[in-house]
Amino acid sequence: MNYLENAFDEKIMTELDRKVFYHYAKNETEEAIIDEIRKNYPIRITPYLEKLILKYEGVRKQFIPTTEEADTHGSATPFEEGKKASKNYGLERLYKDRVLITPHFDCPAYCRFCYKKSRVMKNKRSMTYEEIDNAVEEVSKMHDIRGALITGGDPFMDKNKLFYLLDLLIKLDNIAEIRVGTRMLLNSPHFFTDEICNRLASYIRPNFKDPKKSKYLAINVHFNHPDELQPEVLQACHKLSSRGITLRDQTVLLKGINDDIETMTTLFQLLLRNNIIVYYMNHCMPVESSDHLRTSVQKGIDIYKHLCTQSSCSIPNYVYAPSGGKVHVGPDTELEYENINGLKQIKVKLLYRAEDFRNIAKKDLPPMHRETYDGYIEGYYIDGKD
Ligand code: SF4
Repeated sequence: MNYLENAFDEKIMTELDRKVFYHYAKNETEEAIIDEIRKNYPIRITPYLEKLILKYEGVRKQFIPTTEEADTHGSATPFEEGKKASKNYGLERLYKDRVLITPHFDCPAYCRFCYKKSRVMKNKRSMTYEEIDNAVEEVSKMHDIRGALITGGDPFMDKNKLFYLLDLLIKLDNIAEIRVGTRMLLNSPHFFTDEICNRLASYIRPNFKDPKKSKYLAINVHFNHPDELQPEVLQACHKLSSRGITLRDQTVLLKGINDDIETMTTLFQLLLRNNIIVYYMNHCMPVESSDHLRTSVQKGIDIYKHLCTQSSCSIPNYVYAPSGGKVHVGPDTELEYENINGLKQIKVKLLYRAEDFRNIAKKDLPPMHRETYDGYIEGYYIDGKD
């Protein structure tokens, strides 16, 4: 099934769509503002999500724009993956040990805070089968990698293409870890039929005699609020985890949605109870039109301090991501600030070496980044406001 056909089509807006799409517009003037926002970054939700959006504020705020999005403050591409790392469309590399492959750039629903919105919401074409062949051929020659992250958009938007790619990747000697990033478990949990789950599980290939040759497939899921963990969603997660597929959650810290101790603690404890690894709490990147959803990094630290008093199984990695790479934050991290162009920015030395970045990403350091005297990358990150 093509999930685009099943998703709301903005051109045929029913009364119910209007109620949902203009939920945060108080009058016609504000509806007109929402219309302007939609021209740049459209609204898209699935029929399943619609049910949750009508009921739960914590879900609605993630998918339905407010007029605050008219403030286009921020960057269209706050975290460019390694776009120039390969001639092959859809293949990128930013880190030494893994590649990113994006078979499908679109998503069945659009998160308003998506840091890839300039790709996901702009009708970028998918990889062709020939491009997938070429990309895998290139990956087969990269001897210092061990993992492939299949990302998006949502790779499940075209499951045949995804399985084609997985069939090729699993045969490569240098690929041990395959991760698929998706929000389909929330967007359309019924998508995960027994057939699809069995097929995904078939890519787990342990080799007990020679564990260096074992391979596994994991799914990176994305939940931000306890109200997302509905019975259908958890059942779909269980269908995967009970077949041995590791599920790792990546949560985004979002102002007014989950930026309080109680919501985050509940979310992570529920994930843990339901066999989903609490993996990342990502600070919301400075992507344009999302300023109103961004807290300060320090607010995340304040929440994180509390999380660190809980069972270590429910403590995620807390990270923020300047364009040059991820920064891990601890409960005691002291942030260093500079005011640049009227913006409060966090100055940070990254764990990555400038030379490696240039060699792997095949481009120079991003704007607002430089090489330190000892060869590392130093960069700036625009902080959010509480
Ligand atoms: S699911 Fe991920 S890639 Fe898709 S719109 Fe949401 S944040 Fe962006």
